[in-house]
Amino acid sequence: MATQSNTSSTGHGKIILKPYYVFKRLFTKTSVDGSPVPRPRKERKKFFNKTSKSPAPITPVVPVPVTAPIISAPIIVQNTAEHAAETDSNGIVEPFTPSGTQTTLSRILSTSPEYTQVASTFGIPNAKIMAIFSLEMPSEIKDAHAAHKEEEAGKIQSTPEAVTKRLFHGTKSTCDPNNLIKKGEVCGNVLCGLCGILKVGNKTTSSRCNGGMWFAQHANTSNGYTYPHAGTLLRVMYLVDVVHVTNVAYTVCTNKDHATLPRHLVIYKL
Ligand SMILES: [Zn+2]
Repeated sequence: MATQSNTSSTGHGKIILKPYYVFKRLFTKTSVDGSPVPRPRKERKKFFNKTSKSPAPITPVVPVPVTAPIISAPIIVQNTAEHAAETDSNGIVEPFTPSGTQTTLSRILSTSPEYTQVASTFGIPNAKIMAIFSLEMPSEIKDAHAAHKEEEAGKIQSTPEAVTKRLFHGTKSTCDPNNLIKKGEVCGNVLCGLCGILKVGNKTTSSRCNGGMWFAQHANTSNGYTYPHAGTLLRVMYLVDVVHVTNVAYTVCTNKDHATLPRHLVIYKL
């Protein structure tokens, strides 16, 4: 005759006893010679807690601004010689300023140390980098940022370099990033995440978090705020200099436009 087990597994190795069995064992335990003996009162509460706890309920994951520590993903750079040759020959390599913007973009060739430096920090598993651009933002944005970091450094007798962190910022592109790679063209709409930042830098007025602009230490965190373009599935992420006087613990939020200066644009797909 088949017997019914009195236990079930939670999937995490903990054995949960069914209520009747818990009740019975609460008052009786097995002695060293195998015979049932009364369980002392002081042991009952301990036994009950050990055997009758239900597994924690599973709560759905809701995308929110990340404040919890994120485990850094292993760095996988899809930059084989074959892929590098493909990306370098597939697009504009001369510096250009897309129509409707005042920012100059320079394609970084995959053979350059700068490409290796950026790509090696881009630790998103299975990401295929299609292009990395170095950015020369309009002078008024650069000047405001430079003045702000001088001021913040001066307050704590530090240096502008020490109070500036290079962080990731993922965004959504309304226009096809492939047009930027191949033709140097963008839609130029400030409501397009790609174009808005290219035109005017990071702006609190474009924040999706009540005026706060979020930046992350790890690209994997910022990847959660990118969206694949509907046609080409390409995603866009900026590397931004952010004035932040203390150490960065995974993410930084600022509500000052001039605390930020976009430095690189990475176009990739997963
Ligand atoms: Zn656009």
